[in-house]
Amino acid sequence: MHPRVSLSAISTASWELDADLAFYDDAGITNVGISVAKLERFGWEEGTRRIIDAGLRVTKQRLAVLEAISPGEHLDVDTVADRARAELGTLSTQAVYDALRALDAAGLVSRIQPAGAPALYEIRVGDSHHHLTCRGCGTVVDIEKAIGDVPCLDPTLPTGFVVEAAEVTWWGYCPDCAR
Ligand SMILES: [Zn+2]
Ligand SMILES: [Zn+2]
Repeated sequence: MHPRVSLSAISTASWELDADLAFYDDAGITNVGISVAKLERFGWEEGTRRIIDAGLRVTKQRLAVLEAISPGEHLDVDTVADRARAELGTLSTQAVYDALRALDAAGLVSRIQPAGAPALYEIRVGDSHHHLTCRGCGTVVDIEKAIGDVPCLDPTLPTGFVVEAAEVTWWGYCPDCAR
């Protein structure tokens, strides 16, 4: 029997991987769908922690997909799938979509959809930042909001609506494409 570690303990304690350790949520349900030894070999400790902290079950597909996206990147599904396959070997495109959907719902990735472009995924979430998209090559970069954590636009809203987030895309040309 594996020693039990509660999720709340994982969130605050230093993360030490142990080949005989299994993780359980407060209901006693195993929360890790991959062997810890394998996690250790691939160096996925940080991704594992983020997935567990978000309340999701850890699977090797979710880990590989989450780890495929680096800070500042905005990647389409095909690129995410290529990178995740490089880690896992085989991985169906449907599994990549499923993992992205679960990570999105748990707040670990966010999805943007510039007009006329494929959906793009990034790991920066929850701060309503904006995007600048190059019409030439499709590169997307983050734009910081001017002030605070509220959307920087000042819309005239229909009565009764409460705004929680806004998504703004500027279009232009990156330095390479502007030449
Ligand atoms: Zn460009
Ligand atoms: Zn972004």
